[in-house]
Amino acid sequence: MARKAPKRTYVYGPVPSRRLGLSLGVDILPFKTCTLDCVYCQLGSSSRTTVRRKAFFDPQDVLGQVRKAINSGARIDHITFSGSGEPTLNRSLGGLIRGIKKMTDIPVAVLTNATLLSRTDVREALRAADVVVPSFDAATPGLFRRVNRPHRSLSLNRTLKGLGEFRRRYKGEIWLEIMLVKGMNDSPAHVRKLKEAIAAIRPDRVQLNTVVRPPAVKSAGPLNAAEMEKIREAIGVGCEVTVDFPKTAQISSRGGLEAAILAMVRRRPVTAEDIAASLGRDRASVRKALESLESTKKIRRASFKGKTFFSK
Ligand code: SF4
Repeated sequence: MARKAPKRTYVYGPVPSRRLGLSLGVDILPFKTCTLDCVYCQLGSSSRTTVRRKAFFDPQDVLGQVRKAINSGARIDHITFSGSGEPTLNRSLGGLIRGIKKMTDIPVAVLTNATLLSRTDVREALRAADVVVPSFDAATPGLFRRVNRPHRSLSLNRTLKGLGEFRRRYKGEIWLEIMLVKGMNDSPAHVRKLKEAIAAIRPDRVQLNTVVRPPAVKSAGPLNAAEMEKIREAIGVGCEVTVDFPKTAQISSRGGLEAAILAMVRRRPVTAEDIAASLGRDRASVRKALESLESTKKIRRASFKGKTFFSK
């Protein structure tokens, strides 16, 4: 008799995020389903980019899990669509955001790479969100291809137009995220171009990030704190550096520690410190659980820039 596949988990956390506080993640895509293949992607490399929007999963299953997480009583500052790829590729996104807004006052955020904002249906889907966090790393077509490695049908020009159009009608907050990659998009000349583009997009905030987790392409490296600060100053008012996890968040994990760790590493590579902070557990028990998961080959470790990361 065929075994029934385990039910998919769409919801993870809440995990502490410097930008969003305690964020309940909602992941509505099969692993690495994206319009881009960024060199810094922590999901690894894939040449199979797509621009085809699909339903992927039953929205009622997703909403059921979100409701359960809200009812658990855990503190949640934002409910955030992010995870295994580009959330706007899921054509149920608009209905899901509206469904969550009917259940709760907790603000809904969407992390997007902005490439599909040129589409009216995508802009419409995002309208019900309280916060939209578009990533925008390249202000020239050449760097867009080099850093973000887009699906062949995408263009930087259309992405910029889509962002502008979205800004004109959207009443919520737009927090633009720029991922800076050493030696790629961090030159003073490119930072000047980014600044011009930001002025046209008119986001509420600009948040600078850099490569702190194992990237898809090994040579994609991070900037140091002083370099980040210099770029923050060059971009000016409304720009902040948002790189680290807060170290003090204390939340309780549901289920066993090992299950909670597996749920975290499935989304992205994490350090033992990330896990301890996210789950509100002491380092010794996290280390023990990691050893056990490693010995049964459920997770593996890799070093990046002097830190040890665990992944699936
Ligand atoms: S970093 Fe985000 S936008 Fe870039 S390839 Fe990975 S999932 Fe897609």
